Amino acid sequence: MSDLIADLRGLLDDKGVLTGEAVSERMIHVWYQRPIEALCIVRPRTTEEVAAVLALCQQHGQAVIPHGGLTGLVQGCNTTPADVVLSLERMNAVEEVDPVGRTMTVQAGVPLQVLQETAEAHGLMFPLDLGARGSCQIGGNVSTNAGGNRVIRFGMTRDNVLGLEAVLADGTVVSSLNTMIKNNAGYDLKHLFIGTEGTLGIVTRVVIRLREAPRGLSTAFAAFDSFEQLTRFLRYIDRELGGALCAFEAMWRDYYELVTTAPADNARPVPLDYPNYVLLEALTRGSAEDVAMFEDIMGRALEEGLLADAAVAQSETDRRAMWRIRDSVDQFFRFGPAFLYDVSLGIRFMDSYVTEVKQRLGAAWPEHHCFTLGHIGDGNIHFAINVGDDSAAAHARVNACVYEPLAPVGGSVSAEHGIGTEKRDYLALSRSPAEIELMRRVKQALDPSGILNPGKIFSA
Ligand SMILES: Cc1cc2nc3c(=O)[nH]c(=O)nc-3n(C[C@H](O)[C@H](O)[C@H](O)COP(=O)(O)OP(=O)(O)OC[C@H]3O[C@@H](n4cnc5c(N)ncnc54)[C@H](O)[C@@H]3O)c2cc1C
Repeated sequence: MSDLIADLRGLLDDKGVLTGEAVSERMIHVWYQRPIEALCIVRPRTTEEVAAVLALCQQHGQAVIPHGGLTGLVQGCNTTPADVVLSLERMNAVEEVDPVGRTMTVQAGVPLQVLQETAEAHGLMFPLDLGARGSCQIGGNVSTNAGGNRVIRFGMTRDNVLGLEAVLADGTVVSSLNTMIKNNAGYDLKHLFIGTEGTLGIVTRVVIRLREAPRGLSTAFAAFDSFEQLTRFLRYIDRELGGALCAFEAMWRDYYELVTTAPADNARPVPLDYPNYVLLEALTRGSAEDVAMFEDIMGRALEEGLLADAAVAQSETDRRAMWRIRDSVDQFFRFGPAFLYDVSLGIRFMDSYVTEVKQRLGAAWPEHHCFTLGHIGDGNIHFAINVGDDSAAAHARVNACVYEPLAPVGGSVSAEHGIGTEKRDYLALSRSPAEIELMRRVKQALDPSGILNPGKIFSA
């Protein structure tokens, strides 16, 4: 092994290979304070260095675990002490902004927030947005096909990536840095690396698609007497806004109460009197007419009984305060460790599904805590569940409460976070044997030695 480390040091500069304490002083996740265990962390600066590292590791049959911003929520970056971690943190350059073609070419280690701010500086917008924006990297977003707050209008990461460059397990560089919206010349190879969690290649560069920045945003916080009322409002508001609806973030009362009580210091835009809440946002031209039109649409919804109560943000301060409520997910851990879930199902099944999950939890753990929210316009629900026991056995029982009721409604065990190791045993609930077999054949074709992120998505 010391030969491998010496050879890796020979490929990179003197800051390129970390070992010993320089590894263990780093944490495996932005939330979970568990030290990284690994043979070493390699930190290449260029695609050529990534290629050289992978070619060497393949020769040694050495497992390589890609690390981005370490914000993933399915244990996809987990390591063993024998693994080589490949961190993209030093590949963090924005290489080109094309304001005419509305594209940006970046290295994989650029944090999402930097991309958003760079686009804004050119009067443009990169629509992908999620709470981990300050830490997650575009390479991690691509590898997880991250969703986030604006999927209802702009789609997932996959829909906002035009091209990419990846390095295969044997060191082959596949440069597919397409900048065009249309390109049907054969297979669109970028999809091999989008949402495949570092199991088929290391993403090194990405071409992202930018949009015109909106001149304004209209934001409101609404309350509903029932989930059924909320779904009627969703159809109404999407129709009335004529395609401008760009966020529709639902919160159940349990979550709204959690994040608006001490120690969280979020003020309530509407009272805590209702079962369901939504934070919604629309793109506007920033004119007084647009602001008035948004208020009129919300006012009519109230008159027509499509919502129970609502507050419209009157300033950027109001808007940020509303988003802080949605983003206060760190409160999940107020009562101790929590199991986190990210499931997908048809909106028409959601109300009964959430009720059933809570009934199952209540029957098994009368004292449990369950907080519920989601990107409801996209059919995506998140739960954070604390049952006062974070053992593996308890986790498996809670999994059963959440995942079993998905099967009859054709839901998915992963809406946007991926599979990692955490959901590996449940993949077959959402994918057929033929689909899983084809995934394995693709993996075998691209990484026959199985060195790339082994054990993630399915058992090695
Ligand atoms: C507060 C908070 C809010 C979040 N909100 C959302 C949300 O709304 N929507 C959502 O989808 N997710 C959300 N997440 C989850 C997470 O932020 C996303 O999955 C994100 O895309 C992960 O990016 P990362 O750079 O942190 O990747 P990491 O966690 O470092 O890695 C994730 C996976 O990708 C692989 N990987 C990383 N970089 C590369 C690369 N360059 N090449 C190949 N493989 C690579 C890793 O091996 C791992 O399997 C949230 C997380 C937090 C903590």
